[in-house]
Amino acid sequence: MENVVIIGTGCAGWAAAIYAARANLKPLVFAGEEIGGQLATTSEVENYPGFPEGIDGATLMMQMMQQAERFGTRTEYKKVAKVEQKDGGGFIVTISEDEKVETKTVIVATGASARKLHLENEDEYYGKKGLTSCATCDGAFYPDVPVCVVGGGDSAAEEANFLTKFASKVYLIHRRDELRASKIMAERVLANPKVEPIWNSEVTEYRVGDDGMMRAVGIRNRETGEESELEIKCVFLAIGHIPNTGFLGDLVETHNEGYIVQAPHSTATNVPGLYAAGDVADSHYQQAITAAGDGCRAALDAEKFLSDQEES
Ligand code: NAP
Repeated sequence: MENVVIIGTGCAGWAAAIYAARANLKPLVFAGEEIGGQLATTSEVENYPGFPEGIDGATLMMQMMQQAERFGTRTEYKKVAKVEQKDGGGFIVTISEDEKVETKTVIVATGASARKLHLENEDEYYGKKGLTSCATCDGAFYPDVPVCVVGGGDSAAEEANFLTKFASKVYLIHRRDELRASKIMAERVLANPKVEPIWNSEVTEYRVGDDGMMRAVGIRNRETGEESELEIKCVFLAIGHIPNTGFLGDLVETHNEGYIVQAPHSTATNVPGLYAAGDVADSHYQQAITAAGDGCRAALDAEKFLSDQEES
């Protein structure tokens, strides 16, 4: 029987592991599919305290992992399929039919994944034919050609700026007439001469050429209803995220958008012994530092739960 199983290896998961390991709980971490979480694919992190020159996301995550493992964290590169409550307390964490782990507490730190537009053929094109959500991963494949970013938040602004390193032109397609991004990011992207915003517009169709790769997108102006075509070689979606809670079924209470509900001033969920940390429970802040802080809180909450159990 494990003391604590941590699911997810973003900032929240590693921070929870560091705290749980230093409390001698010997945490077991399941890394899942997106190892290192969203930060692992972020080029430059400028707002994580302690790095005045910035740090690249993959390095930051690697260092968090090393820090957690230094104190006895064990990492399994496996994806959790299911979490169930065990009769008499605790949980069964299922990897596959043949592989299950029993644990007294669980910290869910599975973050959130990129949202899609749900247009025709999206799943077929996604990640292969010039449709992606990761500028850091795929930007360099599109040198000296036009590309577009869809969205108006910090991610869209950051990705559009980053892509100007490679692309001949970056169209920023946003459904409204002003960006949601923070002032500094919005000013930076709109001042970039290689970025051209396309306001009040939505993508209606992905158009693929004879070579099977993205050729253009269909666009509709939401104010005038005018339809047009924009020739680009890749579409970068930056329209927010959806929390990764599918493997929990209906075990845990969630908000409407699927984010796990935490008790006030705690990372506790409605299930005793199961804690949620980071973006999977946070539709609002979604920052590396807030996720890490939440991971710390979850480990402290789990530690208190275990010591209360021992006393009773
Ligand atoms: P976000 O702030 O939720 O922005 C999503 C954007 O996509 C919004 O502009 C939204 O439009 C648009 N959108 C949503 N659904 C759409 C749809 N179906 N069709 C077209 N457009 C759609 O998400 P985010 O940019 O990923 O940022 C998430 C969090 O991470 C934020 O807290 C952000 O500050 C943070 N972040 C920080 C940094 C940084 O500081 N370096 C970098 C990246 C992200 P509307 O504006 O009309 O709603």
